[in-house]
Amino acid sequence: MTFTHSPADHPLLQGHEAEALRRAVEFARDGVAPGAAERDAGEKGQVDWATVREGHRLGLLRMALPREMGGLGLSQLGIALTLEEIAAADPGMALVFGATGLFQTPLLVSGDAPLQERYLTPFLGDEPVLACNAVAEERNGTDLVLPQNAPHAQEMTTARRSGGEYLLNGTKKYITNAPFATYATVLANLDGSAGSTGLTCFVTELEQDGVTRGEVHDKVGYRTAPAGELVFENARVPEGNVVGDERGGWDLNVAIGNLTRVACAGVATGIARHALRRAVDWCGGRRQGGRLLHEHQMSARKLADMAARVSSARALYLDAALKADNVLPTPGYEPAVAKLVADRAAIDNADAAMALIGAQAFQRDDGMDRVLRDAYGPRIYEGSPEALALVITGELFDAPGIR
Ligand SMILES: Cc1cc2nc3c(=O)[nH]c(=O)nc-3n(C[C@H](O)[C@H](O)[C@H](O)COP(=O)(O)OP(=O)(O)OC[C@H]3O[C@@H](n4cnc5c(N)ncnc54)[C@H](O)[C@@H]3O)c2cc1C
Repeated sequence: MTFTHSPADHPLLQGHEAEALRRAVEFARDGVAPGAAERDAGEKGQVDWATVREGHRLGLLRMALPREMGGLGLSQLGIALTLEEIAAADPGMALVFGATGLFQTPLLVSGDAPLQERYLTPFLGDEPVLACNAVAEERNGTDLVLPQNAPHAQEMTTARRSGGEYLLNGTKKYITNAPFATYATVLANLDGSAGSTGLTCFVTELEQDGVTRGEVHDKVGYRTAPAGELVFENARVPEGNVVGDERGGWDLNVAIGNLTRVACAGVATGIARHALRRAVDWCGGRRQGGRLLHEHQMSARKLADMAARVSSARALYLDAALKADNVLPTPGYEPAVAKLVADRAAIDNADAAMALIGAQAFQRDDGMDRVLRDAYGPRIYEGSPEALALVITGELFDAPGIR
């Protein structure tokens, strides 16, 4: 048995999903992991197109697209397991594929056939196409995650109707894939609505007058995923590019968040698993006090706690994925709990691995600094622990008999 707790042959996946996951496992191991350290050390805002291209060949930029359309047709379960594999090798690369999926998800859940035909087909071609979901702004982070905060949003990106189109104005910040994305789903507030109460989702072509790529971010972690600003100055969007309804952005945002948190939990679990792997390799070879480190009870306890964190994080995201795949509307509770636990597992396992490996882990060339830096990413996006706590407790008090 390989040690990694790899879900490669997961019994819940069958047929094409199991086959897709097997290919992703090989790709993560042979195609993604070997270059991760070099990519991490590179200039800000770069993307490794060779690796992206290989992932695209395997379908990782069309994971959620239906098979009839030429996609992989993966369930949320399949997507989360796949992203755990990629993240265990390089979480930034998982984000590159995942953020493109985040653009596609609103189009898929809205069921808008013309938009799907026009904006999902490009992901089926020979060349990889990246996309992004642009929500966050300089002044609005969590206020665009929690719908109850809508009245408090400040200086939102606006959308103003002008004939048969909308004009977008504003700046989006911290957007994964922004430097290279061809398309974005942009959440903007209908002009005149308070805060973000008029939130509306627009499919926006980024290669057009009125859109510039602003600052490229120099991130601490996830350095292998490019991120930056998108600046809209009277950027034109045809009226047919509204996803769902005018002012329907919050419903969409919440639904997408509930779905996406499952995959985010998979990514965090991958980071926690990688840290565990590093600690086990080290404790199985390093001797102090005449014994291998894992034979000391205190170290054994640390390792056992790390393994338990990986297993519990995975169990929770699998549960959330099964609900997301089978219950409509997508529940908020299980994905939020899964992400809360997985985000913490990534940080705690990175910390424990640093302690167990000691001075070797403190060297730049060891690679543990990357794990540590990446481990702090998941708890920022798609709901901080505090935001998730409000989602979770909201459900506890709204439906007290259920849980
Ligand atoms: C690696 C990475 C990738 C990202 N990718 C994207 C992307 O592709 N698209 C995109 O749109 N955004 C992306 N983001 C941005 C992300 O969406 C925001 O960082 C997130 O919404 C939180 O906003 P903020 O960082 O401005 O923090 P803030 O919202 O300012 O929060 C700061 C702190 O205050 C706490 N806080 C805020 N509000 C409350 C409250 N109501 N109650 C209690 N505590 C609260 C938070 O929990 C946090 O601890 C990414 C971020 C990172 C780190």
